[in-house]
Amino acid sequence: MTQRVPLFLNNQCVNSSATATIPVTNPATGEVISEAPLTTPDEMQQAIADAGKAFKSWRNVAVPERSRLMLRYQALLKEHHDELAEILSRETGKVFEDAKGDVWRGIEVVEQAANVAPMLMGESVENVAPGIDTVSYIQPLGVCAGITPFNFPAMIPLWMFPMAVACGNTFILKPSEQDPHTPMRLAELFREAGAPEGVLQVVHGGKEQVDTLLTHDDIKAVSFVGSVNVGQHVYRTATDHLKRAQCFAGAKNHMVVMPDANKQQVINNIVGASVGAAGQRCMAISVAVLVGEARDWLPEIREALAKVRPGAWNDSGAAYGPLISPQAKERVLGLIARGKEEGATCLLDGSECAVDGHLEGNWVGPTLFSGVTPEMDIYKEEIFGPVLCCMEVDGFDDALEIVNNSPYGNGTSIFTDSGAIARRYRHEVEVGQVGINIPIPVPLPFFSFTGWKGSFYGDQHAYGKQAVRFYTETKTVTSRWFEPSFESSQATSGPNM
Ligand code: NAD
Repeated sequence: MTQRVPLFLNNQCVNSSATATIPVTNPATGEVISEAPLTTPDEMQQAIADAGKAFKSWRNVAVPERSRLMLRYQALLKEHHDELAEILSRETGKVFEDAKGDVWRGIEVVEQAANVAPMLMGESVENVAPGIDTVSYIQPLGVCAGITPFNFPAMIPLWMFPMAVACGNTFILKPSEQDPHTPMRLAELFREAGAPEGVLQVVHGGKEQVDTLLTHDDIKAVSFVGSVNVGQHVYRTATDHLKRAQCFAGAKNHMVVMPDANKQQVINNIVGASVGAAGQRCMAISVAVLVGEARDWLPEIREALAKVRPGAWNDSGAAYGPLISPQAKERVLGLIARGKEEGATCLLDGSECAVDGHLEGNWVGPTLFSGVTPEMDIYKEEIFGPVLCCMEVDGFDDALEIVNNSPYGNGTSIFTDSGAIARRYRHEVEVGQVGINIPIPVPLPFFSFTGWKGSFYGDQHAYGKQAVRFYTETKTVTSRWFEPSFESSQATSGPNM
């Protein structure tokens, strides 16, 4: 019988009584690894109620004690780093080095969560009026929820619950149904680190389970990472139910290549940034805007991409793994075909890719288009596959205009030798995360992950100080104390004294 992924409720792995399930498959072989249950309505209600009960005591646990939980968790995650990466590789197909990076980027957020105390400091002003002081306190919200995508099953759950819990909240995680084993192991290690019962609950499922979280009165805030359509639905539904929401959505990230850039650096960086992780990164470079003579570098970009080989997670020579599902592969192949119909030049076509010993895997080889224009579907849609679209323009202003006209604003980069051009780009570009001679500018967790425009709905972003603001409420207290001597002196004072 196929193994069933348990729920994680009150620190126990519990079998769901659901009859409906979703198969979890190994994307390199097509083999069904397990099935994820569609958590029943009763189980959802109970999970939320128990997280609510846990909040009553967790909110009173001293801040240094919460930090110590995160320190123990960080140590355990490091100890189990390779084990987690292997679980992750097996269910996502990511090559092992990449899977280790996924786990590591999450650990860095836990380190930040252990340092939450300075970020929980309020403000104070003494004597706002004679003898009256005002102090603000930062308090947790209650039960928060997180809905995560398939492409970073360690890092993205770890963007969310450690910060929320360190702030004093309890948390319900609904991870992607496509790779639930990694988040389950994260939850078990959180228990091992000493997290009390009900502080982190993990439920599985799809739209119905997510909608329960979005509409339930006891969920105070929702963090979401995933595709644009679902992100918009989550943001609209959560805010319509008067909840706080932060929704990180799809992307189309441009790299502007100026002709004065270091050519070899551009070529080396563009390869990893575009087809690494099979292009299944929200910060992948999916569009290169080649300015002026940089368009002459296309043959060398093609040559470098053609050397890249996908393969199984434990093949040390493989640059990236398969796409997550046959449906994802079909979608990407459909877009490649569409690009050709639309008149883009396909300089390298990965549609017919096969990997020996893994013929059932969802492979797509590196693919390169040139002559891409803003009207084409391959430009407008997030392909989320190992496909690089190149556009050629005459000058920097044309490149800037293209990037600023994009409805997305997650990340961008510019490669140039000119400080003045780099400064203009970083100042004028309407994108939330900018790399200068850096292809994938993901900020470390003491900053925040600051996507803009159609790549983000909300105002406070993930991790860093913004996450603390998102997961907390400010209480402002104004106080006056009457001294007994003051009262009695008033009672006895008078013109005759
Ligand atoms: P997805 O939107 O299909 O799924 C994300 C989550 O939403 C999953 O947990 C899923 O179960 C749930 N879900 C799916 N359909 C739903 C529905 N109709 N109603 C409610 N919930 C639903 O995304 P995915 O394919 O897992 O992930 C890839 C996407 O995530 C890409 O678009 C990528 O750009 C985006 N992403 C964005 C960021 C970012 O920071 N901006 C980071 C990583 C991934």
